[in-house]
Amino acid sequence: MPPLPDAVVENPDDEDWLFDSRRDYMDQLGHYKTPEDMAKMEATMLERRKVCQWCGKPFVAQRKSTMYCSARCRMNGWRQEQKRLALDAATDDLLED
Ligand SMILES: [Zn+2]
Repeated sequence: MPPLPDAVVENPDDEDWLFDSRRDYMDQLGHYKTPEDMAKMEATMLERRKVCQWCGKPFVAQRKSTMYCSARCRMNGWRQEQKRLALDAATDDLLED
């Protein structure tokens, strides 16, 4: 018996391969038919179920680190964070004087 050929995909991205944001949900389901795949898929979805840090709406994050449900909320959150940072800096300046 000849040795098995090497896998074509050298380093599958363990974190992301099951959930590909380029597919919609039903399309995604169609790609994974075994119960094991479905269980993994579901675990991924559960793990990424988040609450938006800006509007409080529940959503499924495409990455573990995502904190906002949409670009708009991310932008609002980012603006607030910048304001907070600017305020902190201003407060620091006042305290230093
Ligand atoms: Zn939101």
